[in-house]
Amino acid sequence: MTAPSTVHASLLGRCPRCGQGRLFSGYLTIAPRCTACGQDFSAFDVGDGAAALVILVVGAIVAGAALWTEFTFQPPLWVHAVLWTPLIVLLTFVFLRLIKSALLVLQYRHKAGEGKLDQ
Ligand SMILES: [Zn+2]
Repeated sequence: MTAPSTVHASLLGRCPRCGQGRLFSGYLTIAPRCTACGQDFSAFDVGDGAAALVILVVGAIVAGAALWTEFTFQPPLWVHAVLWTPLIVLLTFVFLRLIKSALLVLQYRHKAGEGKLDQ
């Protein structure tokens, strides 16, 4: 069993251990375990990390596009509302799954977990 690259596993939403099983059981719901190798995904939790990164990425893309459009064409405000609202929704759906998948794969690769105190 060869471990897939981080990019491959993230883009396809595959198991970070085997690259065959699916990481998600729904659009954003993490599967309980890999269907191919049995890797337990129950310890994986990215919290709000994916949402925070989506806000940064989508915000930068849309703000840049809106500024360029405003300074280039100077359209009325309703054009901005019609252009950017659907784009924000679309990009959020695309990037949320990709970023959540990437964070889960990186969490697995680096064995990230909650901090523990040695006693
Ligand atoms: Zn697997």
